[in-house]
Amino acid sequence: MATPVVRQFGGARRRLIEELQAKGISDLAVLRAFDEVPRHAFVPSGVRHRAYEDAPLPIGHGQTISQPWVHARYLELLGLTGRERVLEIGTGSGFQTALLSRLAAQVFSIERIPALAQEAQAALAECGITSVVQRVGDGSLGWPEFAPYDAILVGAASPEVPRPLVEQLAIGGQLLVPIGGREEQVLVRVRRTEAGQERTSLDAMRFVPLIGTHGFED
Ligand code: SAH
Repeated sequence: MATPVVRQFGGARRRLIEELQAKGISDLAVLRAFDEVPRHAFVPSGVRHRAYEDAPLPIGHGQTISQPWVHARYLELLGLTGRERVLEIGTGSGFQTALLSRLAAQVFSIERIPALAQEAQAALAECGITSVVQRVGDGSLGWPEFAPYDAILVGAASPEVPRPLVEQLAIGGQLLVPIGGREEQVLVRVRRTEAGQERTSLDAMRFVPLIGTHGFED
């Protein structure tokens, strides 16, 4: 019988987890999710041998799977307990979607490029993950039908915080979005409070652009 996909590259995966720990990631639930989700199943076969480097990789259509440290940082900032409803903008490879499915109760994910959404869905299915709800469309508008969300993650850079996403946050919920130009951004955390919202600027980041109504022009 063929080795299940999750068992392959086990040594490389453990070395990546040690590297993430050395780079400051200490949340055990996040590290466990990295151990349970095989990143190599979410990258094209041509770069599979590099799947456990702490580096972004091309996934086709001009897009990239983010660096593992970036995904880990997002997830550590969110501090999910397993009870949350989460919205992800920019499914891309589906790797972070898979990590989220391990850490939250409900995961909704929007991707703009149909082919990527399809490939992500296939990779999620290969890993036995069937609970994620996916849609193709402009994620800068959010997904109002299932709002409010306890957490919203944007995996692409935006010139400003997309207003619909703040509106779709639950009170106490938080949004993570890289804000800046097309080349360089700062990760911004927006917390929705009873009184309004609180914004904090965090790490410097480099993401591909969010293309849409509340993002960059195509
Ligand atoms: N976390 C993903 C990030 C992929 S790159 C990963 O690591 O694989 C960002 C993704 O956002 C790309 O797939 C891009 O097509 C998508 N994207 C860009 N603008 C978007 C929009 N308005 N709505 C939904 N997805 C968008």
